[in-house]
Amino acid sequence: MEEQGRERRPLVDDLVAGTLLIGGAWHPATDGATFRVEDPATEETLAIVADAGARDARRALDAAVRAAPAWAATPPRERGELLRRAFDLLGERTERFASCITAEMGKPLTDARREVAYAADFLRWFAEEAVRVPGRFTTAPDGATQILVTGRPVGPCYLVTPWNFPLAMATRKVAPAMAAGCTAVLKPAELTPLTAVMFCELLVEVGVPPGVVNLVTTSRPAEVSTALLGDARLRKLSFTGSTAVGRVLLAQAAPQVLRTSMELGGNAHFVVFEDADLDAAVRGAVLAKFRNGGQACTAANRFLVHRHVAEPFTDRLVRQVRALQVGPGCSPGTDIGPLVDGRAARRVESLVQRALDQGARLLAGGKRVTGRGHFVEPTVLTDVAPDAEILTEEIFGPVVVVTQFADEREAVALANATDHGLASYVYTTDQARAHRMLAALDTGMTRINTGLLSNAAAPFGGVKQSGSGREGGAEGLLEYLDVRSAAFGG
Ligand code: NAD
Repeated sequence: MEEQGRERRPLVDDLVAGTLLIGGAWHPATDGATFRVEDPATEETLAIVADAGARDARRALDAAVRAAPAWAATPPRERGELLRRAFDLLGERTERFASCITAEMGKPLTDARREVAYAADFLRWFAEEAVRVPGRFTTAPDGATQILVTGRPVGPCYLVTPWNFPLAMATRKVAPAMAAGCTAVLKPAELTPLTAVMFCELLVEVGVPPGVVNLVTTSRPAEVSTALLGDARLRKLSFTGSTAVGRVLLAQAAPQVLRTSMELGGNAHFVVFEDADLDAAVRGAVLAKFRNGGQACTAANRFLVHRHVAEPFTDRLVRQVRALQVGPGCSPGTDIGPLVDGRAARRVESLVQRALDQGARLLAGGKRVTGRGHFVEPTVLTDVAPDAEILTEEIFGPVVVVTQFADEREAVALANATDHGLASYVYTTDQARAHRMLAALDTGMTRINTGLLSNAAAPFGGVKQSGSGREGGAEGLLEYLDVRSAAFGG
């Protein structure tokens, strides 16, 4: 690995030419506006980046529209090979990308390295999928008509990503878009634009043609999104973020009847049955909850534990939680970094406080850490009131809430009692029960006896208000293709 262990304030010195990538060149914002990017562990400024407005967004779309025909006509093998080169180079630069992610987002370096590997997997996966665009030639029931079904790139796409996985959420969209032959305008979250800048630099370096991927960094997401979603040349929106913002963007996409892929919020449950291997369940719980400090859409939000094993499970979990090290993501040994900003830390603290006010019992943690940085103690709560906000809202922080259930039927009812339907985790040694749970749970993704969810080869996405569309897997490519049919008379 290149640059292992090298201390570096990523990008601070490198941003002289501006951070908007438009038509293959780096630009400042047309009105000269900039915004500050902060390190959540120290509250220090990491970098000042270009702050795109509506004009810049339209210029980026101009470039994507200009590049679209040639890119769609580029042989799939060539498109795939560019993605493969990007995969190789990203692997070589793991440390550089990981320290950038840690610096602007806060997650521990070990989590950041895992994110780089996961992000790279999408580049490799879609390098392979680029040459496997599915099609069909079939005979109609009349026996005479021949039907040809093909996929065609949807056209210029607007890709909006959140701050919690600043690299993986970008590659999970950019790679399938490129593989399918679409051009794109990428808009990273305002809290974490630097990783996206670094990723786009890498795409330029491996030879992605000008205009195929354009980048707009902005602190004015509503202005940029309104300009793009109102432009008839845009053909697709792919959004990952909160359900609240997703609803706004869906409404803005409606007048143009845009194709959309919406990866929205979650409220995952983690069900532990009385027959579960409790040590494995506790290990899985720590992974499913504390990776990224709990700031993942797939993070276990509600722990539903059978009443016969609730006490031993909770005792073991509390021991593990108390041993977690809180600190800056770049310090060796850190398990839990800061939350992404002060607002997030205050929100989590007040969710915990309100649950305590309603009678919850505190078994570990419970407070923000005083001093610089947005740190919250890893926390465990039990006896939470059934209507407490902490059970209905996405916590997005290092807080475990344990609730007991009496039987399988009650576990399913509690698990499905949410408007969200992204992810679920089930621990049981009974195969028949595992299959019954798979059938009964209203989530797009279920994991049995593992706390790890992400895999580039598995379609990722939710049901209910967790969104629509899938990323990764063979399905991820289809989101960027229009299905067309032709019929030939006999
Ligand atoms: P967010 O909705 O606040 O922001 C997401 C993106 O939307 C950012 O790029 C932001 O700049 C942009 N945005 C914000 N307001 C906007 C507006 N009015 N108009 C247009 N764009 C706007 O979400 P976040 O806080 O960055 O991320 C956390 C959320 O993302 C959580 O709810 C989490 O569950 C969800 N998430 C979902 C997935 C998934 O795959 N389902 C993955 C990661 C995160």
